[in-house]
Amino acid sequence: MRTEHARPIRLSDYRPPDWLVDTVDLDIALHPTRTRVRSRLRLRPNPQAVGPAAVVLDGDDITPLSVRIDGVPMADSAYLATPDGLTIPQPPAGPFVLEIETEIDPSANTKLMGLYRSSGNYCTQCEAEGFRRITFFPDRPDVMAVYTTRLEADRDEAPVLLGNGNLIEQGDVPGTTRHFAVWHDPFPKPCYLFALVGGRLGARTATFTTMSGRTVALGVYVESGKEERAGYALEALERSMRWDEQAFGREYDLDVFNIVAVADFNMGAMENKGLNIFNDKYILASPETATDADYAHIEAVIAHEYFHNWTGNRITCRDWFQLCLKEGLTVFRDQEFSSDMRSRPVKRIADVRVLRGHQFVEDAGPLAHPVRPDTYREINNFYTATVYEKGAEVVRMLETLLGRERFRAGMDLYFARHDGHAATVEEFVACFAEAAGTDLSQFMLWYAQAGTPELAVTRRHDAQAGTLSLEIAQVLPPTPGQPSKSPMVIPLALGLVGPDGDDLPIRLAGHGPVDRGVLVLTRAAETFVLEGVPAGTVPSLNRGFSAPVKINADLTSDDLRFLAAHDSDPFNRWQAVQTLASELLIENVAVIRAGGAVRHDGGFVHALAAVLADERLAPAYVAQVLSIPSEGDIARDIGRDVDPEAIYLARQALRRALGNDLAPTLRILYDRLRQDGPYSPDAASAGRRALRNVCLDLLAAPGHPAAITLAAAQCAEADNMTDRMAALATLALHDTPQREAALADFFERFRTDPLVIDKWFALQAMIPDPGTLDRVRGLAAHPAFSLANPNRVRALIGSFAQANHTQFNRADGEGYRLVVDTVLALDGVNPQVAARLATAFRSWRALEPTRRAAARAGLERLAGTASLSRDVADIVERSLGER
Ligand SMILES: [Zn+2]
Repeated sequence: MRTEHARPIRLSDYRPPDWLVDTVDLDIALHPTRTRVRSRLRLRPNPQAVGPAAVVLDGDDITPLSVRIDGVPMADSAYLATPDGLTIPQPPAGPFVLEIETEIDPSANTKLMGLYRSSGNYCTQCEAEGFRRITFFPDRPDVMAVYTTRLEADRDEAPVLLGNGNLIEQGDVPGTTRHFAVWHDPFPKPCYLFALVGGRLGARTATFTTMSGRTVALGVYVESGKEERAGYALEALERSMRWDEQAFGREYDLDVFNIVAVADFNMGAMENKGLNIFNDKYILASPETATDADYAHIEAVIAHEYFHNWTGNRITCRDWFQLCLKEGLTVFRDQEFSSDMRSRPVKRIADVRVLRGHQFVEDAGPLAHPVRPDTYREINNFYTATVYEKGAEVVRMLETLLGRERFRAGMDLYFARHDGHAATVEEFVACFAEAAGTDLSQFMLWYAQAGTPELAVTRRHDAQAGTLSLEIAQVLPPTPGQPSKSPMVIPLALGLVGPDGDDLPIRLAGHGPVDRGVLVLTRAAETFVLEGVPAGTVPSLNRGFSAPVKINADLTSDDLRFLAAHDSDPFNRWQAVQTLASELLIENVAVIRAGGAVRHDGGFVHALAAVLADERLAPAYVAQVLSIPSEGDIARDIGRDVDPEAIYLARQALRRALGNDLAPTLRILYDRLRQDGPYSPDAASAGRRALRNVCLDLLAAPGHPAAITLAAAQCAEADNMTDRMAALATLALHDTPQREAALADFFERFRTDPLVIDKWFALQAMIPDPGTLDRVRGLAAHPAFSLANPNRVRALIGSFAQANHTQFNRADGEGYRLVVDTVLALDGVNPQVAARLATAFRSWRALEPTRRAAARAGLERLAGTASLSRDVADIVERSLGER
């Protein structure tokens, strides 16, 4: 066991490692319960070290069987082994070879960190600090070494043996039933990128020829019998490799690239050098079992992990505070890839929905932290939307500020200068400042200051001068540990939509044209005077969501409807409809809480009807426009004294109104968008299905029996999971006999398919009925449910806690009780997943008083539990901590 109440680790305490490791030779003999690990490290003193020269190695839940220095066994008294590691107080003065032997039990490893077994196969997860559960090592990313790994296993139990790098030798162990494989990775890497896999696996393979003509063998390994479902992942990998060559000039470097899918995995996927290990949810796909969204996620995650080869692996992080250096940058890269493969505007809208739904919520609560935190107690709790999604927005802002060419020059410099090293955010940003010849010191605040900037925009039009003044004030609200903030540099892409609906040129009075229409804010308040602006012009602010900020502008409903009809920027056209919907919903939430009757807004319905009728718009885009703000979106916009029940009622009222008022158009579209012929996951086909299913859902919203029957028929007859699942989700919202029949039928049809059964669990957990609490309790006792499988826990309890706003936030507190009970039960099995589940309470302070008190009681029950893991204790203490 490790020390549970560790002291905080601070960025300001960073110092270089005392010892460097040049090579690591591992000899790992796999066994279900007694895996023997022999490690041989070539250590040398770090010339940059300042501290004492003791060798301090990290360990977690392991004990040394033997320790040797330069081949000579050490006496037990010559080193100190503790639960946290192994210390050699008086090592040799110069370079030496350290050999350590340990034995571990992969079958008993339910934390899924280090070496563990999933469906009988051996696999590893070492990021962030899992390698220390395999052997003693300086487990920090700035110690980079060349690894050679010999794997040995029973031939029947693990016919496939995979490691990092290239396969250099393999064969049988004479006189035994065992065989071995030796893998060598010539690229120095930190130990968090170490991986091994052993098991009975099938593969889909291909070869890829790189831009310089080298041949790379590709393999996607899955559970035997599921090879057919790995084809899309393999194609996505090939597209990713080609794209990185074309978009960033990055070529793959080893002879092989392998991906392995496992069923038990804490995260989405892991970018281990040359051997990515994936949650099988992001690999396996067939038309019958995966939705269009699943296909899109698979493509994006395959790309993300592949892109890490350059942004993360070749150039890694100096320390875990720099996590955004690899994650934010790589999310930006995978977003760009998906935009190029699919529809850029639709991708942007989807990404901003995710950013607002997760990161803005995080920023507004007690778990808020900067893109680069300056302190942590448990690094696993910092794999957050802020580090990933906001981290990507920060990179995108660099591109917006500098322009495409200078941004690319900065990236090229970064790759050239830091290849093979462990870098910092400062070093990354310096490359752009240097390549572009500009000062980015104020920009660094995006990494240091937490919170979402709020912009207030006030217009003043001078008809005589033909000028429009935009007064823009920025405020960054206080966050934990940061009571006051400095103004940020904010790139605000601006459009001016003239009275006839066309874009006007953007000229600053006295300065001339604005480069690419991007206003750059640097002060707390400033005024931009634009010239050549006729009366009736409407500003389109933050086009393409150029900065991750909230905007409060003095635009009227008429202005928003005008933008919804004419804005040439597809993102802001969508945004205008969202803002109109949000304003109406917030008004109606207040009305409902006051006991009044909701207001029907014919103007809003008319704006949506106009979008529906615009045949130039792609179906995928129209589907996004028709998807009104979620309950979470409305709660976030309200911000305080939140009543989830009133939000639900207001949203339902609007959905019913749309379903009634637009029924003829929705039905015509539903019929016209029907696709005959075989299923294809391409973006255009997926877009037609998305719009058709949004039409179905709105048609059914008023509860008309004919529409429910239509949904039930689609659910029963669909030839693909997208249409089946969408119809089932629509049925789930209506308490009818068809719902229960469809759920039962779905289970019978897919009972042997765990990923599909996850969908079945998740959908039921999200039903917004009071009966859902008992339903979830019942499902938690279902034979198919297990706390040992993270996907299953996330599907049932995670969906209930994160996506069922009315039932998780029941006024009687029973929703909180269910989740707290699960966190406690899970903490002893898998603390990392338990901690993630506990973050469901992150918005508790924004709730109305009754629910706020109940949520606080739930958090306090967690806090009062003895022997809480460090992971959960950290989340609970911060959630209850200072405002
Ligand atoms: Zn990543």
